[in-house]
Amino acid sequence: MEPILEIKNLHVTFHTHAGPVHAVRGVDLKLAKGETLAVVGESGSGKSVTAQAIVRLIPSPPGRMEAGEIRFGGRDLARVSEKEMFQVRGSEIGMIFQDPMTSLNPTMTVGKQIMEGLMWHQSFNREQARKRALEMLRLVGIPTPEKRVNQFPHEFSGGMRQRGMIAIALACNPKVLIADEPTTALDVTIQAQILDLMKGLQEKTETAILLITHDLGVVAEAAQQVAVMYGGKVVESGRVNDIFHRSRHPYTWGLMRSMPRLDWKRDEELTPIPGSPPDLFDPPAGCPFADRCPHAMVICHEEMPEVSTVSDTHRVSCWLEHPQAAETKARAATPM
Ligand code: SF4
Ligand code: MG
Repeated sequence: MEPILEIKNLHVTFHTHAGPVHAVRGVDLKLAKGETLAVVGESGSGKSVTAQAIVRLIPSPPGRMEAGEIRFGGRDLARVSEKEMFQVRGSEIGMIFQDPMTSLNPTMTVGKQIMEGLMWHQSFNREQARKRALEMLRLVGIPTPEKRVNQFPHEFSGGMRQRGMIAIALACNPKVLIADEPTTALDVTIQAQILDLMKGLQEKTETAILLITHDLGVVAEAAQQVAVMYGGKVVESGRVNDIFHRSRHPYTWGLMRSMPRLDWKRDEELTPIPGSPPDLFDPPAGCPFADRCPHAMVICHEEMPEVSTVSDTHRVSCWLEHPQAAETKARAATPM
């Protein structure tokens, strides 16, 4: 199926006083209509920067998209005018972030913020927009919408604000929703409600969702596709089952042991991956995981592994996939 959103060879660098930070280094992602693609990885792996690049919201300066294409609706979003991008952000691609207070306008009622998008981008009149705002607040499960529509964000609780942001993001029926850690700051019950809500809306509207999270429980619950990011690269990607049950990348194995999963019990121990992520001021020439990988071979430190196709749905970039890897390992293990 033709993807609704496709990111090709994305490179983003932050030009800081201390030197350039290569935050995203050649990322490829595809998002299909009606599906959820979860992007997982430790903080600093480039997940949020990738999401911001799609909608051109990378803080610039110091950030800069150095290369790549963002294919959406027959155009390359990296190259459209700011005016066109404004239209895309308001109505074709919705956004939800971890902290609603950073993206909600504190000086405007929540209702007005929903109405604005509709009036700007969909030429609704005031009456129609207000009706739709009430409908959206109801849809996201906000009680007494007639009262809430006139309230400011600070009058909402954390969970309510998150719902308010979803209402804003979805009011214009976007084709794509970008959700960056949408439930991280919330307690478990509300988290589950918000995920259910997103899923329900997705079923109704066929919205494609790019979901950034570091919670594998959330991935199992909400996604069909997964991309694992490390050191500014996608190191493995596939269907949820490929990643949860047939993973081929040592970093994904470590991630599975270090992050809570759906079947995770509170008293079960999580094993953090020893070591720290690569220095993105001076990214390694080889595999970004080489310094922490228990299976690293000499070549891992020298050359970046190519992307190998495990199956139609499953891709991995690791030297262990190389046909001669077993031989190389055996040789390394033999004393000279
Ligand atoms: Fe480990 Fe080498 Fe694979 Fe990287 S390429 S994950 S270092 S085995
Ligand atoms: Mg982030």
